[in-house]
Amino acid sequence: MHQLNKPGDVTTPADQPGLLAPDTSGMNFYRADPALTDLLRIHLPDALFRHIEPHLDRLGGLAGGHLDECARLADRHVPVLHQRDRFGRDAQWIEYHPAYRELERAAFGEFGIHAMSVRKGILGWPQTFPVVAKHAFTFLFNQAEFGMGCPINVTDGCAKLLSRFGDEALKAKYLDGLTETDMSRLTQGGQFMTEKEGGSDVGKLTTTAMQEGDRWRLTGEKWFCSNADAEVVMLLARPQGAIGGTRGVGLFLMPRRLDDGSPNHYRIVRLKDKLGTRSMASGEIKLEGAIAYAVGKLDRGFVQMAEMVNSSRLSNGVKSTALMRRAHHDAMTVAQNRVVFGQRIIDLPLARRQLMKIMLPTEQALSMYAFSADTMGKANAGDEEAANLLRILTPVYKFRACRDNIPVASHALEVRGGLGYIEEWVTARLVRDAQIGTLWEGTSNINALDVVQRAVGKAGGHKTVSAALKDKYERSDALPGQYKGLLGATLDRVERFVEAVATDPKQEKRCRLAAGALYHATTAALMAWEGATLGAQGGDARRLLLSRLVIEHRLAPQDPLSLNETSWEQEAMDLLLQDKPVPLAKATALVGYPP
Ligand SMILES: Cc1cc2nc3c(=O)[nH]c(=O)nc-3n(C[C@H](O)[C@H](O)[C@H](O)COP(=O)(O)OP(=O)(O)OC[C@H]3O[C@@H](n4cnc5c(N)ncnc54)[C@H](O)[C@@H]3O)c2cc1C
Repeated sequence: MHQLNKPGDVTTPADQPGLLAPDTSGMNFYRADPALTDLLRIHLPDALFRHIEPHLDRLGGLAGGHLDECARLADRHVPVLHQRDRFGRDAQWIEYHPAYRELERAAFGEFGIHAMSVRKGILGWPQTFPVVAKHAFTFLFNQAEFGMGCPINVTDGCAKLLSRFGDEALKAKYLDGLTETDMSRLTQGGQFMTEKEGGSDVGKLTTTAMQEGDRWRLTGEKWFCSNADAEVVMLLARPQGAIGGTRGVGLFLMPRRLDDGSPNHYRIVRLKDKLGTRSMASGEIKLEGAIAYAVGKLDRGFVQMAEMVNSSRLSNGVKSTALMRRAHHDAMTVAQNRVVFGQRIIDLPLARRQLMKIMLPTEQALSMYAFSADTMGKANAGDEEAANLLRILTPVYKFRACRDNIPVASHALEVRGGLGYIEEWVTARLVRDAQIGTLWEGTSNINALDVVQRAVGKAGGHKTVSAALKDKYERSDALPGQYKGLLGATLDRVERFVEAVATDPKQEKRCRLAAGALYHATTAALMAWEGATLGAQGGDARRLLLSRLVIEHRLAPQDPLSLNETSWEQEAMDLLLQDKPVPLAKATALVGYPP
């Protein structure tokens, strides 16, 4: 293991008790998150849950300590592109800080997060991991290190694309390396689509592919290439003579090294100087006759790549959820420890409201992760209904959770006060990192349009999602009938609204509102079901309270200048901020409908 700087005095020094609030250093992010455990228990088979829990516990501890310190260092000591080796030979290479290498060792080597859903036997489990289980690791790791979330995810995505669409020879050559946990044999992946002409408008890409026997030569330029020195890259290029637009692009695998070990014919021109994800190298790449291999059907390139994009969108949702949870932990730590005007911050009414603005979107996103990942698992196993549901859930989740991440991070910074703005504390990095979620794998607008125009307009996904949710909570005996009625009426109202937006071209400007409404209605229904399920088992029913808060604050008509606050809401907030389990009877009474 590399010798790293020690964390130093990030917890309140013993000689200054109570002077400044500590941060989350030393917190175990798994143990500090009973909601995560609750949702994993609901969604995973018991044997698998018991198998992975010690590993989650270990990762949770590392993420709150050693890996967090590595992430802080890797963010400060950014990658550097070199053009030559020390003998003066033209051999490009990227220098990473040892802290980044240590993060890689943990993510790829020890936990194998990139390989969990493709290779059997990771962490001693005889099968591949279901998506819910894999992303529990994503969620914990990204609370410490966000930049590397991208290489982990694209390596996973490349392996999936290759195993799904690649021919046997290509698989034999590249699949094993992409799913290796032995660091000396691991070959990380990359996914290069964006060109200067367009990121959203991919059909405008100008990179060309010329056939040369059983391989292709690529010429052009890729404008945003994360994990720039990846050994195996999936990219889109237009075969010579193919039609314009997305239907004319093919999917190719481009290795960094050729069979004789020499570098492939492309150059990293420079690395981007980025606002966030600074630990990870994103570059601009010139393809100068680079050798590549066609993957799958040549005229289905974009459709095939869309599979990777879909899986990446889910992963982006989970990573944003992780950043929000980290912001939530940090804000609660400050609020419980910092004393101002003779009171702890958490006891001050205005601050309590602000803490709720951090907590509620975080918990919504957590429910969305569990549901979407569960659905993806079923869809991967061939369930057609789940595949339909997934088509709408992924852009809905990606759109809203990534967007919510920005105010959540910003609120957490503010809760820490002036120190929140200082780079020695994590909040400044959380604010910077939060911004990328709305850009990669489609901007917020592109995802909102995808939800409304494609998933709702063409496939009726709003009805699929409503039916799936009703099917879940209607079966719950623990959920009061009247609350089921409120949920049903809310879902119906949202369904009508998104349909009206989808069917009238003049309403395109409301696509974000419609996608957001779907997100809120979905999470309200999920949290009610989760709270009732957990409460009925004698566990924590607090998610039922969160469900009603979503309905009241995100979907119900409100007068912003009204001074009335119902007593249920005051008590609900008190219970939620107290951080103690809420019994089912209390939760059902509070949402206004006794069992
Ligand atoms: C740090 C970083 C890493 C990245 N890594 C990669 C990578 O590894 N691989 C890769 O392929 N790409 C990568 N990207 C690129 C990213 O996916 C694109 O930047 C993104 O898709 C947006 O494309 P664009 O930059 O061309 O913006 P544009 O497409 O030009 O969009 C500009 C604005 O127009 C809006 N817009 C576009 N179309 C519409 C519409 N129909 N209606 C309303 N508004 C619209 C967008 O929402 C946006 O606000 C990365 C970007 C960043 C910042």
